[in-house]
Amino acid sequence: MEEQKTVFVTGGSRGIGKEVALKFADHGYNVVINYVSDKTDVESLQKEFEEKNVEALILKADVTDIEGIQNVVEKAIEKFGKIDVLVNNAGITRDNLLIRMTEEEFDKVIEINLKGTYIVTKQVVKYMMKKRSGSIINLSSVVGVAGNAGQANYSASKAGIIGFTKSIAKELASRNIRVNAVAPGFIETDMTKVLSDAVKENIHNQIPLKRMGSPKEVANLIYFLGTEESSYITGQVINVDGGMVM
Ligand code: NAP
Repeated sequence: MEEQKTVFVTGGSRGIGKEVALKFADHGYNVVINYVSDKTDVESLQKEFEEKNVEALILKADVTDIEGIQNVVEKAIEKFGKIDVLVNNAGITRDNLLIRMTEEEFDKVIEINLKGTYIVTKQVVKYMMKKRSGSIINLSSVVGVAGNAGQANYSASKAGIIGFTKSIAKELASRNIRVNAVAPGFIETDMTKVLSDAVKENIHNQIPLKRMGSPKEVANLIYFLGTEESSYITGQVINVDGGMVM
C-alpha cells in the first residue's frame, strides 16, 4: 500500500483553501489547516473531513505569528510524521486607490500575503529538506502578473510571491523540493463576493471564457502541482483565469 501523505493548506477554512484541502482529502491525504477568525466553525469542518475518512488537524494560527505557525507545524509532524505538500493560500485584500491607501492597508496586505508565505514556508521546509522531498504551491494572482488599479498593495504582495517562488525553487531543487505559484483570475469566493454587479460585468467582459472561475477549478490545478504527476515542473507561475491574462 502507498504511504499516506499529508497536505498543509494555510487559510483552509473557506474559499479556495477549503476546496484544496477537500480535494487532497478525496485522494486520501491527511489534512492540516489553519485559520484566523473566531467565526470559524471548526466542528463542522472537522466533520466534513471525517466524512472523507481522513484525519484533519485544524488549528487557529495567524500566518504572521511565527510561534503559532511553529506550533501548527510541530503538531502536524507529531501527528502525521511529515508534510508532503504545502499550499500557501491564506490571503486578504484591502483595496484602495494609491492616493487614498493608508500605510496600515499597505502593510497588512504585505504582512499576511507575502511575509506570511515566508514564515510558513520556512517552518515547513526544514522537514521537507530532511525527507528530501516536497511540493510547495503559493497562491499568487493574475494581478500580481498584470497589475490592477485599486490593488497596489495586493498586486505587490502577489508579485512578491512570484519572486519568492522562483528564488526558493532554485534553492530547493537539489533537495527534490518543487515550488510553483498559481495565479487565479476572478474566482467565486467571499473575497470577490463584495464586488458590485457592475464591476462583475466589467470583469466578465475581460475574460475570454466569460465567467468567473470556481474554487474547484483552482483546486484541480493545485492538486496536480502537489503530486508526482507534475514531477518535472518547478519555478513556474501557472494562470487559472479563463484566459484573462495571456
Ligand atoms: P477567502 O475566501 O477570503 O478565504 C481566505 C482564507 O484565508 C480564510 O480561510 C481565512 O481564514 C484565511 N486567512 C486570512 N488571513 C489569515 C491569516 N492572517 N492567517 C491565517 N489564515 C488567514 O479567500 P479566497 O478567495 O479563497 O483566496 C485564497 C487565496 O487565493 C488568497 O491568497 C487570494 O489572494 C488568492 N486569490 C484569490 C482570488 C479570488 O478571485 N478569489 C484570485 C486570485 C488569488 P478565516 O476563515 O479564519 O478568516
